Amino acid sequence: MENLQSLWDRVVKKLELMVSAVSFDLWIKPIVPLSYENNELILIASSPIAKNQLIKNHYKQIDTCLEEIFGLKVEFAIFDEEEKKEYLKLHADACATPQKEEKKINPFNEKYIFDNFVVGKSNQIVYAACRAVAENPGRSAFNPLFIYGGVGLGKTHLLHSIGNYIYTHNPDLNIVYCTCEKFTNDYIESIQRQSKDNTISDFRSKYRNVDILMVDDIQFITNKKETQEEFFHTFNDLYQNNKQIIIASDRAPSEIATLTDRLRSRFSSGITQDIQAPDFETRLAILKKKAGLEKYTVDDDVFDFIAENVNTNIREMEGFLSKVHFLATLYGKESASLAETYEAFKEQAEVKKEKLSPETILDIVCEYYGVDKNDVKGKKKSSVVVEPRMMAIYLIYDMLGLPLVSIGKIFGRDHTTIIHARDKITEKARVEHKTKNIINELKNKINNA
Ligand code: ADP
Ligand code: MG
Repeated sequence: MENLQSLWDRVVKKLELMVSAVSFDLWIKPIVPLSYENNELILIASSPIAKNQLIKNHYKQIDTCLEEIFGLKVEFAIFDEEEKKEYLKLHADACATPQKEEKKINPFNEKYIFDNFVVGKSNQIVYAACRAVAENPGRSAFNPLFIYGGVGLGKTHLLHSIGNYIYTHNPDLNIVYCTCEKFTNDYIESIQRQSKDNTISDFRSKYRNVDILMVDDIQFITNKKETQEEFFHTFNDLYQNNKQIIIASDRAPSEIATLTDRLRSRFSSGITQDIQAPDFETRLAILKKKAGLEKYTVDDDVFDFIAENVNTNIREMEGFLSKVHFLATLYGKESASLAETYEAFKEQAEVKKEKLSPETILDIVCEYYGVDKNDVKGKKKSSVVVEPRMMAIYLIYDMLGLPLVSIGKIFGRDHTTIIHARDKITEKARVEHKTKNIINELKNKINNA
């Protein structure tokens, strides 16, 4: 784990490529990182004017670069010197000055710990495997550990829990968490710079000199042959040295299209464990836990209503709970009641309906199957595109209820083809567990788009 200053230096390097030279010299370069605690970063601008300029013109860029370098969404505030003094007065103990800042920082979201994770039937095995790995990285039977499951079911929470646990109990271990996207971007960047200054070795030293490597959302490695190749070698290198590898994905290795066989077999060589959607009792317990953590006061029947009605995924449930709490605060109520809950529910249903379009559904289906949208809309008849095409037709019909002729127009086909596709998928879902799962997974993704 790097210290704050060196992480910030990397952020600055990225920002340099995004802003004008003048803005960089005037506003960005003089920023000093003051502290990073509980995923909150305090930055000091050189003057009140600099602070305003940064907030007005560069906030988004800083936000993006922080997320990339820190590997998670970072909450940050920009202070001027006066505010810094006030802040330091209030946080005299907690804050190290930059000169003293040698302490390793914890890059993990401190809310995502094992203690905040509710264990139920749907996730108990995954939870146990993650704990075993956290307690004995590289030495348990769980290497590699491959966890998979739908959107918002707690995969990232578990990876961060492992990170937090190791940070606390084994701080000398070098642990790297990244998304597949970040791994890919770092790799591409290193290749681009390779000829100039030999940075591929920087990339390798970052990803290979680790005790624990965690890669989140590995399904995005599909269609990236060279990244797969590099990941394969990284994997082998770590594995041979008894280093722990943990991978999270939205589906099992066997379901990741265009994954090379040798990578698929590596992924499956340790423990592969899925995380299921939680049952009603677990959803209820998660909501109560969340309310406790966020200090929301909520009537009991509100929890029941949310657990009953918002059941696609936990992230959505949490978002809904926070909306209900927000409305209650707005109306000056001490405790959130069913009245606010109904209001939030109605609003959410309308927003969803407005947001959803056939193109969104098509995009998500194509991304899921790793196929090109033009092929799906086009005339190709190979099975690689026929299945996604029928699935997209089915979902557009089922979720949007558009007339068959209108759906036909999207795909350049007449309505009989649309009926055929719809009925074919309906029948497949009736007899095949796998198709049913894919439909649920896709609906979940679409609802969260
Ligand atoms: P994923 O990575 O699988 O898409 P996340 O880990 O981001 O999902 O989880 C989404 C949200 O749901 C997070 O806020 C997380 O804390 C919460 N969550 C998921 N599962 C649980 C659980 N079993 N107990 C408590 N919170 C959970
Ligand atoms: Mg995730």
